[in-house]
Amino acid sequence: MTTPVYLDYAATTPVDPRVAELMSRHLTLDGIFANPASRSHMPGWQAEQAVENARRQVADLINADPREIVWTSGATEADNLALIGYLRANRHRGRHLITSIVEHKAVVDTAKALETEGFEVTWLAPGRNGCIAPQQLHEAMRADTVLVSLMAVNNELGVIQDMAALAEVAHAGGALFHVDAAQAVGRLDLDVKRLGIDLMSLSGHKAYGPKGIGALYVKRHPDIRLEAMIHGGGHERGMRSGTLATHQIVGMGEAFALAGDEGEADQVRIASLRDRLLDGLTDFEGIHRNTAIDVAVPNILNLAFEGVDGESLLMALRDVALSTGSACNSASVEPSYVLKAIGLPRELALASLRFSFGRFTTDADIDTALSALRHALTGLRRQAI
Ligand SMILES: *Cc1c(COP(=O)(O)O)cnc(C)c1O
Repeated sequence: MTTPVYLDYAATTPVDPRVAELMSRHLTLDGIFANPASRSHMPGWQAEQAVENARRQVADLINADPREIVWTSGATEADNLALIGYLRANRHRGRHLITSIVEHKAVVDTAKALETEGFEVTWLAPGRNGCIAPQQLHEAMRADTVLVSLMAVNNELGVIQDMAALAEVAHAGGALFHVDAAQAVGRLDLDVKRLGIDLMSLSGHKAYGPKGIGALYVKRHPDIRLEAMIHGGGHERGMRSGTLATHQIVGMGEAFALAGDEGEADQVRIASLRDRLLDGLTDFEGIHRNTAIDVAVPNILNLAFEGVDGESLLMALRDVALSTGSACNSASVEPSYVLKAIGLPRELALASLRFSFGRFTTDADIDTALSALRHALTGLRRQAI
């Protein structure tokens, strides 16, 4: 069996070999393996230095101060800490949160959990292109709104939200602005100062770093108070206890430094890969672009194939690893809630595939996917007649 062509970078990216090599030097006795909280010996200081170097690498990519970076286990935990931590710590100021129905489950389910704690949530619905208009946010703002949480790049569609404009509306209404930027690292400029972001969730493994590590950017000046969810040794200024995972952290730091150096060039090359795929399908009827490509990152392309069933199509595409909607819901056969939210009819939502490309995708990969796709579509549509 040949290894399938990997076109599921939005689910996770492979670790960049340069990152893996650095990580491997932070595990064993001959490397930097000690507890970064060990203050009484040299190996501990070296580990702390490695962690602080990575903290600076992450901070540099988003134009933050290293003291504004809190390590977490991933973007899921960062989203939980931002929403739960902020709302609980500020419940005296207000109990209203605004988010959208196209957020990642890490935000959607956290907001639902907060509703059961007595907080109120307004769920914004995007337009047909998947974007939330600043005016919509403006109309949803209330006197007791304390937090607005919207994602930078949608993981199923690739569409980009206008973070600067949305932040401005949130601030004008006296609320803070949280961004889930898991899909945006290396894809967009994430300068938190320019964009006006107060809290931002980051993940290692969507940007060629390892899984199981992430961070929350927490703006200082003025200080943002968060109630900790994980209690213990008081690590990360009390916001997130637990021994720091040195090897994961240096991996994420290096991956983010590479994103800063190479992300833009990666995206230019990836845009031509996406266009190659689209060009190769122009003679097929009944293909809908669910992704509004004029407002999307080039590395995610969601397409609907009229007259075929998505699962059968996926089955027929054994040589290509890709996803129907979000990988997180692939156990269920319900159409993706994101595709429903942009008004796609159920049959089309069920016949949709997400192609996502990355640093290691080649022209040859696209050509393999194209020939598999053309073969599968021809076969399935012949059956359907
Ligand atoms: C992958 C992803 C997450 C979850 O990140 P983990 O690091 O896997 O917890 C959150 N939000 C978005 C938009 C994602 O794509």
